[in-house]
Amino acid sequence: MPDLYAALGVTSRATTEEIRSAYKSLSLQHHPDRPTGNEAKFKEIQEAHEVLSDPGRRSVYDINGSVNGESRGGWPPPQTASGIPFSFMGGGGFGIPEVHFNMGDMFNGIFGGGVGKPRRRGGKGPDKFHDIGVRIEDFYKGHEIKLKFNQARKCASCEGSGAETTEDCGPCGGAGKRIMMRPIGPNMIAQTHVTCELCSGDGKRVMKVCRGCQGKKLVESEKQLEIRVEPGMRDGQKVPFVGECSDSPEYDEPGDVVLTLQCVMPDVYEWKGDDLWSTAKITYAESVLGFTKKFTDHPSGKEVLLTWQGGPLLHGATLRREGGGMPTRGGGYGSLYLRIHVVPPPVVPWSSEDAAKLQSVLGGVAASLVSAGDSLTFVDSA
Ligand SMILES: [Zn+2]
Ligand SMILES: [Zn+2]
Repeated sequence: MPDLYAALGVTSRATTEEIRSAYKSLSLQHHPDRPTGNEAKFKEIQEAHEVLSDPGRRSVYDINGSVNGESRGGWPPPQTASGIPFSFMGGGGFGIPEVHFNMGDMFNGIFGGGVGKPRRRGGKGPDKFHDIGVRIEDFYKGHEIKLKFNQARKCASCEGSGAETTEDCGPCGGAGKRIMMRPIGPNMIAQTHVTCELCSGDGKRVMKVCRGCQGKKLVESEKQLEIRVEPGMRDGQKVPFVGECSDSPEYDEPGDVVLTLQCVMPDVYEWKGDDLWSTAKITYAESVLGFTKKFTDHPSGKEVLLTWQGGPLLHGATLRREGGGMPTRGGGYGSLYLRIHVVPPPVVPWSSEDAAKLQSVLGGVAASLVSAGDSLTFVDSA
């Protein structure tokens, strides 16, 4: 699977808007009908956009490095090539599909992530970090996401040794370490303790393989993590699940699974702190007379109508609706801010009647003074 982000020339943190604009400019550049066109490249860009513009498919790709359930290279090891099912359920029918895929490198590989006998490292295994796409309406109302995966735990019947019966390792005498002599100069020999490679430091040799785990030391079972997205949580919030990585023979305890909630934003909003920001494009007439703006995709799920009747607005003005923002940690709501973008009107000369009406409302310069100077010519609107 090619790197979809690289195909669009964006980072994995790119917003929906950045992805769309990268797609637009690249597909124009590489369209087969153009002199700079390249059909293969064009196809690649289209495929990348198809996946990355869909929050559900993007999450799957982010976690798994593929869109169809094949894992990133190098994992799983050959003995589990059929893959470990992993499902991601958006719940609540918000359009995040339930998808089954390999855990990939999200959790510790159940065999320690490699082929051959892993080296004992001891201590706690590494944490696994991953992003989970969450819709803004789910941040607003609260939501539960269920992650299902097969988790490996040390086999209970052999306590993770993989053996039903063992005997002491011969070469190291059961110590797990051997002394290595190395000449370092005339009549000088250095002695170093090295881990016995035959028993990997266990000091034991397997005589009879454990029937519980067939010697694999680990047993898999289905595990479900429930991620509770609560109102007041923020984009980028980390949700740790202590010790939920798979056990591995390399480490004494498994690492944590740390999920980062990444908001999937509709392009119409920006989320800053407790507040939402948006832009209202209004006509010149609306900037003078007032306007009503309807939001059908507010994260509350309700239609939001905002009205301005307060007098003339200039381009770049900011209006605020208290309580129209995101839930706060304390239980209230932030504000919805509207940046005013005034679309310039077509430039047409006023009729003398219109000029007189406007002058009666706005005041202004007397017509005799207007016609006294040299005429100006319209060039362009800024
Ligand atoms: Zn040994
Ligand atoms: Zn066992």
